[in-house]
Amino acid sequence: MTSPFCNVALPVPLRTTFTYAIPESLKGAIQPGSRILVPFRKKSLVGVVVDLTDQPPANVKLREIARLMEFAPALTPKLIELAQWIANYYLAPIGEVFRSMLPPITELKVHREIALTPSGRAAAESLGGGELSHGLTTAESALLQKVNAKNVLAAFASAAKMGIAAATLQQLQQRGLIEIHERLSETKRKSQTVIAWKSLRTEEGKTLKEKEEKVRALLETERGPLPLPQLLKLAQVSRSLIDRMLAGGFLESWEEPIDPAEDPFDAGYTPPAHALNEEQESAMKAIRARFELGEFGVQLLHGVTGSGKTEVYLRCVQETLARGKTAIILVPEIALTLWIGRQCRAWFGAKYEGVAVLHSALSDVERAREWWRVRNGEARVVVGTRSAVFAPLQNLGLIIVDEEQENSYKQEETPRYHGRDVAIVRAKSEGALALLGSATPSLESYHHARGGKYELITMASRVANRSLASVEIVDLREDFQQTHKTSPISTALRAGIEECLANKTQVLVLINRRGYSWSVLCRSCGASVQCVNCSISVTYHKSRNRLECHYCGSIQQVPKQCPKCQSQYVYFFGEGSEHLEERLRKEFPGARIARLDRDTARTKRQYQETLGAFAGGALDILVGTQMLAKGHDFQRVTLVGVISADSSLSMPDFRAAERTFQLLTQVAGRAGRGELPGRVLIQTYYPEHYAIQDAVRQDYSAFFEREMHFRTMMAYPPLTSLANVIVRDTSLEKAIHWSRKLSEYFSPHDGHTVRILGPATAPIARLKKEHRFQFLLKSPKRSILTKLLSGAMTFCDTQEIPQTAVLVDMDPLSLM
Ligand code: ADP
Ligand code: ZN
Ligand code: ZN
Repeated sequence: MTSPFCNVALPVPLRTTFTYAIPESLKGAIQPGSRILVPFRKKSLVGVVVDLTDQPPANVKLREIARLMEFAPALTPKLIELAQWIANYYLAPIGEVFRSMLPPITELKVHREIALTPSGRAAAESLGGGELSHGLTTAESALLQKVNAKNVLAAFASAAKMGIAAATLQQLQQRGLIEIHERLSETKRKSQTVIAWKSLRTEEGKTLKEKEEKVRALLETERGPLPLPQLLKLAQVSRSLIDRMLAGGFLESWEEPIDPAEDPFDAGYTPPAHALNEEQESAMKAIRARFELGEFGVQLLHGVTGSGKTEVYLRCVQETLARGKTAIILVPEIALTLWIGRQCRAWFGAKYEGVAVLHSALSDVERAREWWRVRNGEARVVVGTRSAVFAPLQNLGLIIVDEEQENSYKQEETPRYHGRDVAIVRAKSEGALALLGSATPSLESYHHARGGKYELITMASRVANRSLASVEIVDLREDFQQTHKTSPISTALRAGIEECLANKTQVLVLINRRGYSWSVLCRSCGASVQCVNCSISVTYHKSRNRLECHYCGSIQQVPKQCPKCQSQYVYFFGEGSEHLEERLRKEFPGARIARLDRDTARTKRQYQETLGAFAGGALDILVGTQMLAKGHDFQRVTLVGVISADSSLSMPDFRAAERTFQLLTQVAGRAGRGELPGRVLIQTYYPEHYAIQDAVRQDYSAFFEREMHFRTMMAYPPLTSLANVIVRDTSLEKAIHWSRKLSEYFSPHDGHTVRILGPATAPIARLKKEHRFQFLLKSPKRSILTKLLSGAMTFCDTQEIPQTAVLVDMDPLSLM
């Protein structure tokens, strides 16, 4: 076990590992999964040891590991295995996979302490007479005695001073004489500096330099206010640039407390204690039967909205803990981690022990702290979004994937993994149960359940005999014929809202675009205003008085005339959430109205404030985007209005119907969850479309049959495997050249086991300044695709096509 070399994965976009020499002082301490600091080119990088080796590569001078980050390996062998699977399956650089798995590197200090075990203590005491015994060296004996006298001592520093190598400590530990404890302490800070954009200055017409513009885009349009270290990392700018922008009045900053457990709703929260109803009981029975087997399995819990799935999840976790195992609950959205996290803490953790919450809106320090609590075994239940599937729990018994059909489980940057699919792979390797829950399962999962690969559990009715909301279609063509007005609020919806206001119940109104108008068109030449970096129409934001690109965050002034033909007749078209809010305020002047979308809910706090106000009855109408459709349990909502079902239906994407059906069903699930019955109004120009018809009837299996028929005909998933390959570059010539080259590799493989379409211009032909071409690969067997694509990667290397120019998306959710 004292190999002199190790292979290390580094966070660089290269599909290889790197060999380093292990210095004498670290021999024996370096293990697979250890985080280490190594020199790489002219930098120092933190990497992960993949394996140890006796065979260094020939003809290279190896560099040495500079530092071992912490004594215990950060990753377990199972997680290393999982990372390798992801790297192979999704064709992602292994170092980038590890980066997604590991906590951010922060200024956390690790304190290591040595403590004696009972047998270590006995040994130390018997050494008192000075005789050498227990086969210990003099130095070892001295160490044991010193620890015994002092009770504990800081390990490495003092051990090294006494001439004891890391390997010796490891041996003493293995012989059961000592224990090494690692404690983390933060670098004292209880608060952090948050930086935000101060928008006023841009109006003065000053143009920003490229780096400043990047900071603006992040803070203003892409992310919202950010803690300083996170901002520096994301924008890749220096501290002094930020200081200059602060001094120049472009930015503002304030101090905010760091506290992951901070959740204003936690105080005094007691979870409802329901006796399970019959359907919930029989679901539990089926799940329990699985637990009894104590082996890997996948179950799909198909329960209509409001059937009480959360209750079932919590009990499953309880049973898992009772069996001495640990559990992960994945949820599709940050807001839901707050809600489920609160319930878990109430169930499983007196105070905050026992439960860890992981999501991307935590600051680095918070995230690292939660991660290490899990790694050190302090937390045995993890609630989190996508990447929480990598939580370093040991002895994992259960992974729950709530709303498994949600797109947010797919990471749309390298590594492009699907959290649900990884959950299943991980459960398999750890012999755990994967429980997928949904009111509208993905076609993939339901197909597997039908085929017997997953076990199907159904909960067909809402708790307490509540009925599903009644869903009605508003045919916008008829509405127009009667009113001759093109208001986004139809006569029926207006009447419905009035009724709610009169009865003092609440209304949710959904619209799927944010901003004021999502298109700016010229009446003379028909041109629409496009983003300067992307082939995408820009969105008009009225309160900020400018045009924004929702893909890259760039902004433009609102044009007075058409940029193409100089005509004066520029008009704004397509209502977004900002516009709708304005209109509702006009039409219902007495009502208390708020809007929830990425423009109004930039921070966790804003989000909680609005949701809290609505849940507490301080609002009558809540307008918002998709983020309102999921999961929330508002008791007094009796009406949900959907402004348009059509924009998601008309997307040029094979999943458009599935997405529309899911969205409408989820939305319908928000109404009538309390004692009061609920009603849903869906406005559309295509009332006859099956996705809408089946959603109105809330008939999942009818939809499944029809959609499967379509997918079979068109050879789309789940019956076929897909991979989307995008070739991209800021230079059009290069992008074309490389796609031609890649086509030389692909074309000979086009046949009946795999179909290769392309290269063609990608649906978004230009994105963030890059031109894009696309290959679409289809095969009935996924393994054929994997093999072909890994060949393509090798081909790219030999042809010197840069790895960053070729983007592979395995099992893509969208072909844009
Ligand atoms: P789902 O996730 O399936 O849409 P939830 O888990 O949010 O449904 O449950 C809906 C509501 O029903 C919640 O308010 C929950 O507290 C309540 N509930 C759950 N189980 C029961 C039960 N057995 N009896 C009464 N109410 C229940
Ligand atoms: Zn024009
Ligand atoms: Zn753009």
